Amino acid sequence: MTIKHFAALMLAAAAIVAASCTKTAKTTRTPAPAATPIGSFSADSAYRFIEEQVAFGPRVPGTGAHDSCANYIIDKLRAYGLDTMLIQHGTVTAYDGSQMPITNIIAGNKPHVRRRVVLAAHYDTRAWADREHDEIKSTQPIVGANDGGSGVAVLLEIARNIQLRDPEIGVDLIFFDAEDQGAPEELRGDNRGWCLGSEYWAQHREPYRSDNLPAYGILLDMVGGRDARFYYDLFSQENAPTACIKVWGEADALGYGHIFRRQLGGTIIDDHVNMTNRGIPTADVIELYNDATGSFPAYWHTHADDMSIISKSTLQMVGNTVLNVLYKEQL
Ligand SMILES: [Zn+2]
Repeated sequence: MTIKHFAALMLAAAAIVAASCTKTAKTTRTPAPAATPIGSFSADSAYRFIEEQVAFGPRVPGTGAHDSCANYIIDKLRAYGLDTMLIQHGTVTAYDGSQMPITNIIAGNKPHVRRRVVLAAHYDTRAWADREHDEIKSTQPIVGANDGGSGVAVLLEIARNIQLRDPEIGVDLIFFDAEDQGAPEELRGDNRGWCLGSEYWAQHREPYRSDNLPAYGILLDMVGGRDARFYYDLFSQENAPTACIKVWGEADALGYGHIFRRQLGGTIIDDHVNMTNRGIPTADVIELYNDATGSFPAYWHTHADDMSIISKSTLQMVGNTVLNVLYKEQL
């Protein structure tokens, strides 16, 4: 993913600074959480799912490691007994005009239940570490523990939970390919080539007809970083307000308002744009920027995006939040 409008980010940052300036000193007392986690999301399990993906190496489309990871996801979903599975193979055109083979993986439970929520993540990792300063390192692909691994891991752990306790509604899980192969940094301003897997999925309109689209979607991308902060992305807030309110509201009720900040970040190009344009308003939960950098975190698109920056605490809070949203949905 990449940032679309940096100006929006700076405006939001200015607004946050302005808001904080008007605060007066007061004693704060942390209230007891209004909600408790439903289900049994295990951060240990999610952490292991990231380790197992990273062990394949960089998951760049067209490589053996990538295909091994796709098979790993499919095997896990089968083991957890999801009712439906669609493996969508295709070919897309990369930013440089080359052809790229892709595989999207779509699984669901309760296919006949009309009210549905879709969760999504991308499983490919970037083909080059273009935020590295070292010239040689910058040409090498990343293992993407957080950017690629974490969203998949949370989805797989949710699949494990669904097997233990079915939500009332139908749930679909989409593992998108080729999200992160957009034009490299040196072609600054060239926004081609991002989110190709979800674009292919949106064009081919599977598995939904236009009259049975899920009510909303939640996209998880970079959701396992240490000290992560999740701000509203402007596109999500404008186009998927219901999903944003459900996710950020539930996080707040669980006592996670310190990481799920109800403040605006920038505008992100990510798979949620294609999902929303397909007719499923989708909120992007993404480590958009943290307080120190004012941008994506420092490890983003570098070789530092490895297991050392993964936090079980962040995974736990994200997993509990999304599971609670699912389990509280009613027909
Ligand atoms: Zn990325």
